[in-house]
Amino acid sequence: MKHLHRVEALLIAIVAASGCAHNAKETELSDFVTAHVEKIKPLEKQTNLAWWDAAVTGDPEAYERSGELTLQIRRIYSDPEDFASLKELRESGQVKDRLAARQLTVLYNGYLANQIEPKLLEQIVELGTQIEQNFSTARGAIDGRKVTDNEIKQILKDETDSAKRKKAWLAGKQVGAVVADDLLRLIKLRNEAARKLGFDNYHTMALATGEQDVKELDRVFAELYQLTNEPFRKLKADLDRILAARYGVAPDALMPWHYHDPFFQETPMVYDLDLDVYYEDKNVRRLAGEFYAGIGLPVEAILARSDLYEKEGKNPHAFCTHIDRQGDVRILCNLKNNEGWMETILHELGHGVYDKYLDFDSPYLLRSPAHAFTTEAVAMFFGRLSRNPAWMQEMLDLSDVQRAEIEKVSGRYAQLKQLIFARWAMVMYNFEKELYANPDRDLATLWWDMVEKYQFVNRPVARTSPDWAAKIHFAVAPCYYHNYMLGELLASQLHHTIAQNVLKVESDQDVSYVGKKKAGRFLKAKVFEAGDIYPWNEMIERATGEPLTAKYFVEQFVR
Ligand SMILES: [Zn+2]
Repeated sequence: MKHLHRVEALLIAIVAASGCAHNAKETELSDFVTAHVEKIKPLEKQTNLAWWDAAVTGDPEAYERSGELTLQIRRIYSDPEDFASLKELRESGQVKDRLAARQLTVLYNGYLANQIEPKLLEQIVELGTQIEQNFSTARGAIDGRKVTDNEIKQILKDETDSAKRKKAWLAGKQVGAVVADDLLRLIKLRNEAARKLGFDNYHTMALATGEQDVKELDRVFAELYQLTNEPFRKLKADLDRILAARYGVAPDALMPWHYHDPFFQETPMVYDLDLDVYYEDKNVRRLAGEFYAGIGLPVEAILARSDLYEKEGKNPHAFCTHIDRQGDVRILCNLKNNEGWMETILHELGHGVYDKYLDFDSPYLLRSPAHAFTTEAVAMFFGRLSRNPAWMQEMLDLSDVQRAEIEKVSGRYAQLKQLIFARWAMVMYNFEKELYANPDRDLATLWWDMVEKYQFVNRPVARTSPDWAAKIHFAVAPCYYHNYMLGELLASQLHHTIAQNVLKVESDQDVSYVGKKKAGRFLKAKVFEAGDIYPWNEMIERATGEPLTAKYFVEQFVR
């Protein structure tokens, strides 16, 4: 007995020891995570609260507080020793537990993105701020008279004289020439920082720390390009005929200034679609509340904490924020009873339900959407309903005649809007990739090559000005724009999956989602509760049966 006992004891000791050896790295990580979350959790909550106060009141002190707190968080993530430990843990290959490994990845990427040398970072921030200031103060001029962006936009919407349109368009591009040299310096500084961290360039690094891969994005954008090429050509030919007639020029003589915004990223107002009349005597807040309750994702708790109407000093836009990763979710809006705000409140509450219905038993670091673009996708999925004839009919008690009237233009309008944006997003994605890969090439020519290739818009003769630099996103939100497109693609992919596999309706068209609790249940179980537990593409595959694809976006908007 004694002997056996000893063997048993020995066995237990061996198992325990090997278990210990096996878990040493996991234990180390677990201690790291605990300490990290202890530091970060209260700071994130305070930051979000300060930011919320600032946005609601416009109080400069709140802005300052939120800026300071953000800096404190950044400081934590820029600690080189902590980063070294995480790197060591990662390279050990010993962190096997799935949730632990996932937290390690999230932490590692968070730290990696903040490992830029302090001196270099300072230069980058300074230059970025300066460019941003130039953007807000530089004004283009028409015949020597300074004009605002709004004036330019107004002329591009209303003016029928081509010469006047051209002047307004050129005025909008002048800021490009003002900032281009600084912007190029900034891009090279960003590249320098990325190379010191072992990346080819900043674009590659920004994508990698956001768990995106150039090859994968290239695949998605190439698919989208192929599938939209011919439909866009046709749609644009129709549009060009209408515009050409309005301006009294031949369709093939249309120039960039004949479209209704400086970059041809929006839908020119040629098909009348005024949906405001259907909303003006309704209450968009109540409609949104009823709709979300009807699909089993009640939002009253969100709305109760939110700030929904216009106020002196308040941020005039809209956003959603999750204060504490514990369900304190709020949206900011400036509601009016019209279609635009119907879309916006549905959109913001889309972000809201994603956050509200995360799994709060999951680890703190994974308690967030899988990616910025996946929450954007859910927000877009719901935001699109404000123009959906089936949804409008049910929510607004419209007659069949009214619905038919909306249908006459809404489908075409949605198609135009989505295709125009998709082709524009291709310019942004592909240009930005090349911009960082080789900032010394002839960028003015490259820009117009891409505009011609993707948007089918003629280049102005012998144009050598840096028109690309007039797009503020290159300066202030680098390597992010493609996420708007990915959001649209995923919104359509979710729509397809829910229509086909969850609601099991015959066609993806005419789905109103009103009262469809199954749709809400699906989103909650497959998307929201998954949080950041899986990398985004794995979450998408688990939810829809395939990785992100452009197929369903094309199916929905190209007919
Ligand atoms: Zn959004």
